[in-house]
Amino acid sequence: MSGQLIECPCGTVLRGQGIDEVVAEARKHAKSVHDMDLTNEQAKAMARPS
Ligand SMILES: [Zn+2]
Repeated sequence: MSGQLIECPCGTVLRGQGIDEVVAEARKHAKSVHDMDLTNEQAKAMARPS
């Protein structure tokens, strides 16, 4: 299983066991911290293997 990470422009790093998990974490972060609605596509585009 390959871990994934998304680095938010604010410097926060979201991590997940897979793409779906890290995308969910990033969307949660964007909404709660930045009041921003991140789409699955946007989050996936920011993801890279950790
Ligand atoms: Zn952020």
